[in-house]
Amino acid sequence: MHKLILVILMMTVASGVLAQGDPQPGDPGVGDSFLPGLGNGGYDVQHYTIDLDVDMNTGAIDATTTIEANATQDLSAFNLDFRGLEVVELTVNGEVAEFERNRSEMTITPAAPLGVDEAFTVVVTYKGVPNSFEDSAIPIAIGWNRYDTGIYVASEPSGAATWFPANDHPLDKATFTFEVTVDDPYVVAANGMLIETVEGDAETTYIFEASDPMATYLATVNVADFIRVEEAGPNGLLIRNYFPAVSAAQAEDYFSDTAEMIEYFNGIFGPYPFEVYGVVVADTNLGFALETQTMSLFGENVLENGFNGQLTIAHELAHQWFGDSVSPADWQHIWLNEGFASYAMVLWAEYKNGEGFADVVLANFHENLGSSTVPVAEPPVGGNLFNVAVYFRGALALHALRLEVGDEAFFNILRTYTNRFHDSNATTEDFMAVAEEVSGMELDEMFQTWLYKRDVPPFPEE
Ligand SMILES: [Zn+2]
Repeated sequence: MHKLILVILMMTVASGVLAQGDPQPGDPGVGDSFLPGLGNGGYDVQHYTIDLDVDMNTGAIDATTTIEANATQDLSAFNLDFRGLEVVELTVNGEVAEFERNRSEMTITPAAPLGVDEAFTVVVTYKGVPNSFEDSAIPIAIGWNRYDTGIYVASEPSGAATWFPANDHPLDKATFTFEVTVDDPYVVAANGMLIETVEGDAETTYIFEASDPMATYLATVNVADFIRVEEAGPNGLLIRNYFPAVSAAQAEDYFSDTAEMIEYFNGIFGPYPFEVYGVVVADTNLGFALETQTMSLFGENVLENGFNGQLTIAHELAHQWFGDSVSPADWQHIWLNEGFASYAMVLWAEYKNGEGFADVVLANFHENLGSSTVPVAEPPVGGNLFNVAVYFRGALALHALRLEVGDEAFFNILRTYTNRFHDSNATTEDFMAVAEEVSGMELDEMFQTWLYKRDVPPFPEE
């Protein structure tokens, strides 16, 4: 995520009840320290198949989501995160199941209990007009958003439940299939590879397969009058972009550095982690950009943002490594996403414009912090998760680390970290351990100063 409001940048375990005796209900949350209600315990989703029929006139959807999961304990009942929308039918392993709903929690009692390690299938048929909402953690409308000429989905951290029933926490990654039907001439853009388009009388079904494990908040479906533009990226990587027809030529030009950015980041972060990349530019203005997996989301206004917008493009691309492939194990570790993506902008600026330019960006970060911030690695629960410190002070912490250990060790640390935790989750402690292991240095004092204290240290210099 990159908020577009600041000066230079505009941006922006599972616990199960021990299975002794009778099956127990799964926990209604995974115990996230920042957002405790998110996700659910007792099972591990393997795959979501999300089938949506979208009426662009009314905004309503007719939908079926099929969830293939494994029980991680004996379960008498379990929860899914799901907001609004009317459930028409719900089955578990083909049998109609009872369910109760309370705000964003849906508690499902299957006809027969599920045994630990058992694979099971939940099919939820539902309908209605999805509604976005503002989470206390972020003051923008998240989830399924409809605008005059289209739809975009931006769910970080808790908006996925506005359009499909989910185990909505990054700890439970899964693969996805999207089958989305819209009236012609609308076009659908979703995560992963477009594997089929099925043309009906006056409508088309777009089928996307996202075969890299993905956190629910990174799933996206976008609908508008898009033009799909493909290009070849490094090492045969497909880059496919979806641009609004009205601004496609301008957008193609504006995003023309993408392949070069991927090649540069491949070298310093390790290989691009997914099967495909590209962007979708909504046919409307947005106050943010989001690193939706394999397909970063931007508003059309990014096209007017000059070099700052290029930094935002680098930021969302860098999130594919930091945030998407390696996701936070708890939302409190959000700086592992935002500090890293913000530092990636500095690295891109340095690569394109020389070392002096990086210092200008970093000095601007430092000035914007003031003298005191929230502790980067422990932002206060209940506050704005995406506060300025997790971005700018997080980036400065990485710069301080780089100056402390030297370039060779620093980039080895980043590559070791992305390799060790790819398609998985990490904590601040995991990153600090990699940094000490790779550098062979004692770094506790530096990390304490930059990540855990409130006073902002002086600008890091060699
Ligand atoms: Zn970001």
